Amino acid sequence: MLTAEQYLESLRRIKYRAYLFGEQLENVADHPMVRPSINAVAKTYELAGDPRYEKLMTAESNLSGKKINRFTHLHQSAGDLIDKVKMQRLVGQKTAACFQRCVGLDAFNAVDSVTYEMDRELGTGYHVRFRNFLQRVQNEDLVVDGAMTDPKGDRSLRPSRQADPDLFLRVSEKRKDGIIIRGAKAHQTGALSSHEILVMPTLAMGPEDEDYSVCFATPADTAGIIYVYGRQSCDTRKLEEGTIDVGNCRYGGHECLVIFEDVFIPWERVFMCGEHQYTAALVERFAGYHRQSYGGCKVGVGDVLIGAAAQAAEYNGISNASHIKDKIIEMIHLNETLYSCGIACSSQGCATASGTYLIDLLLANVCKQNVTRFPYEISRLAEDIAGGLMVTMPSEQDFRHPEIGPYLEKYLQGAEGVPTEHRLRMLRLIENLTLGAAAVGYRTESMHGAGSPQAQRIMIRRQGGLDQKKKLARVIAGIEEDRE
Ligand code: SF4
Ligand code: FE
Repeated sequence: MLTAEQYLESLRRIKYRAYLFGEQLENVADHPMVRPSINAVAKTYELAGDPRYEKLMTAESNLSGKKINRFTHLHQSAGDLIDKVKMQRLVGQKTAACFQRCVGLDAFNAVDSVTYEMDRELGTGYHVRFRNFLQRVQNEDLVVDGAMTDPKGDRSLRPSRQADPDLFLRVSEKRKDGIIIRGAKAHQTGALSSHEILVMPTLAMGPEDEDYSVCFATPADTAGIIYVYGRQSCDTRKLEEGTIDVGNCRYGGHECLVIFEDVFIPWERVFMCGEHQYTAALVERFAGYHRQSYGGCKVGVGDVLIGAAAQAAEYNGISNASHIKDKIIEMIHLNETLYSCGIACSSQGCATASGTYLIDLLLANVCKQNVTRFPYEISRLAEDIAGGLMVTMPSEQDFRHPEIGPYLEKYLQGAEGVPTEHRLRMLRLIENLTLGAAAVGYRTESMHGAGSPQAQRIMIRRQGGLDQKKKLARVIAGIEEDRE
């Protein structure tokens, strides 16, 4: 396994073609806008090397028998699925940001079981190729961007019906030695923290969408791949001096639009090419795993937000007010409900044919559906407790100013004995999580990450067993005999 420092060094060797503010980035890993998100991924290495967290952060590989980072592991039991959620809560607590590495983990597990089933039923040879790739990922302790979401153009039209055929990522040419890819992946979490990209189809494809039924892996700096860095609220605070106004001093997350401009993929890196009938399972399983993930990562970040709200109340001298206590209780209740969903869908997980464990899909979708709501209420309560100063407070530069600073020190102080700077830092952290750069990873990502709410409702309807429920009712109402 790599150390955090070795991980950073390995990223510096990757020649990404990346753009931010209209300029191509020279040294991605050390850019002040990007670096906080790389620090968050580096934490997954640091914690794996820490004896206190080793048990949660590492696993024994079923491929090599070696100790590996759990972020590269194929889940071998329901216990592994539970440990994954616990690990994500831990890393969320330590970073208060999106630590990005789960998309690759969720992609590995989904591609593993689907390629196995494809090979068994169609006689293709994808599974061995995929496992060879994964073994390298495990041995070299790599970060992989699991890339699913296409730009999608006109949402009412199938991929092959779009006016521009590239609005869904596709195979534009098949050659003897490999395939050529055109298209893009949107909202790519951690794209510039990753060594490799593992591309999957974005939705269930039909026979007319064969060219769009493609899954492959490629190094992040393959010729023809272009990254455009996504903006976040208050992101340029990362370029300012000082550590108060950013709210989170070290960590962050990022997303990119990743463009594939005629990218060549050799056959040994292709894990699906035209088998449209397996796209539904791949999308469903990846989405299911990532919806489970949110019952861990968002809960860990929620722990920090609840702590910040409670701490801000103390700094304001109101921690004993009964309404404050009640709001904190409500925040904990909501956060632990999300965790319960993450643990529940894991504990009900079952082995797939490849031996890799899959979560209970219904419960994973219920988990994510709650995540589209509860972090909003937790954020609302945190803002309520924080008070208006969170959004009207002057800058760190004013606080440090020789003439103005002492006034701010005097007039922005809270409870006696609490340094004013501590109060300001806590409010900036709450701002960061609810409205600032980290709100991408906590608030809006809670809505849209791992699929927007309607996507979960479709799955809940599909998995909800409504026919069985109607039958139960008919038996109880005396319309039908209970024959089971
Ligand atoms: Fe991991 Fe959560 Fe970020 Fe997804 S949103 S990559 S689950 S930390
Ligand atoms: Fe996400």
